[in-house]
Amino acid sequence: MNDRLAPGGCDSLALESVRGIAAYQTGKPIAELSRETGISEADIVKLASNENPLGMSPSAIAAAAGALGELARYPDGAGFDLKAALSAKFTLHPSQIVLGNGSNDVLDIVGRVFLGPGSSAVYSQHAFAVYGLVCQTVGATRIEVPARDYGHDLDAMRAAIRPDTRVVWIANPNNPTGTLLAPDAVREFIFSLPEHVVAVLDEAYTEYLEPSQRSDSLAWVNEHPRLLVTRTLAKIYGLAGLRVGFGVGAPVLIDLCNRVRQPFNVNSIALAAAVAALGDDDFVARSAAANREGMAQMRAGLDALGVPYIPSAANFVAVEVGDAATVNAGLLKHGVIVRPVAGYGMPRHLRVSIGLPHENQRFLDVLATLLGRAQN
Ligand SMILES: *Cc1c(COP(=O)(O)O)cnc(C)c1O
Repeated sequence: MNDRLAPGGCDSLALESVRGIAAYQTGKPIAELSRETGISEADIVKLASNENPLGMSPSAIAAAAGALGELARYPDGAGFDLKAALSAKFTLHPSQIVLGNGSNDVLDIVGRVFLGPGSSAVYSQHAFAVYGLVCQTVGATRIEVPARDYGHDLDAMRAAIRPDTRVVWIANPNNPTGTLLAPDAVREFIFSLPEHVVAVLDEAYTEYLEPSQRSDSLAWVNEHPRLLVTRTLAKIYGLAGLRVGFGVGAPVLIDLCNRVRQPFNVNSIALAAAVAALGDDDFVARSAAANREGMAQMRAGLDALGVPYIPSAANFVAVEVGDAATVNAGLLKHGVIVRPVAGYGMPRHLRVSIGLPHENQRFLDVLATLLGRAQN
């Protein structure tokens, strides 16, 4: 149904900034492709949303089930237990933590605290799409800085800051490129920002990094009053469907975020499961190891096919397939769901999440067929 032009419709009543928004493209659900193609759900491989192919920690599943009996009550809006678990795990004070319905929610909260008409935000070309969407939602000006080798050009980003800039977004590693900035470079950049700017360091994939690649960013918030680090339980912790993430910053910054946060933004099941997930270091280690092996498999397979890709530090890889729309259509027809990234200014790439070995192989095999190449 399209009532856009119907007389009396509300399109013309909406804010100009909102009318310009192209809605976020999510990975196609397995059930949807099954309905469209008749391929059974069991035969479909989804490598489109950077989910954990190992699922979630057994203890998190048990905790989620244990929360079912109390669902008639509102969740703890302050998230006491989860903040306590995060404080203990990361050596924080609960006043330094804001919880989100996914870290996406935290990014949105930042926009509503610091951005609006008359202000601007800086981020990189090919960066996570939500930064631009948040700006548009609140009517702030988007300053997208050309990338360097698909990654953030920090010097150019610093130079792009204007007097009206209030937020600089940094994704490390970035989605959908998988590019990584060195810890020293990130720190130097953040601490060199002018006092009228808040730095948001989005670390959704940090748990996949080798220790030497990891920034000590949660400690930086003790030294920097305008830094917010965001993390999520949706990726390596495997809680994507429950929607829980968090931001860490100075108590004043966190207090501002809590003023605009929906009072019950994280539900009871998510709160309970997140506490358990944070306690299962073994599951996280197994997930990181599986990703390392899957990434090696994917890279070796792509190398064998002679298909270029952007080296990735995360749990996905942007593969340069040429005419990505056509290749994507072919993959779907064979029951393989990946993520087109034309909306990120990358019409020649597809973003492929690292899955289980047989899922990665299925992608590689179908890709070889579509590109008409023998694997050597
Ligand atoms: C997946 C992702 C997020 C947010 O995920 P949530 O599910 O909302 O926690 C944030 N930033 C980046 C770069 C991501 O890829």
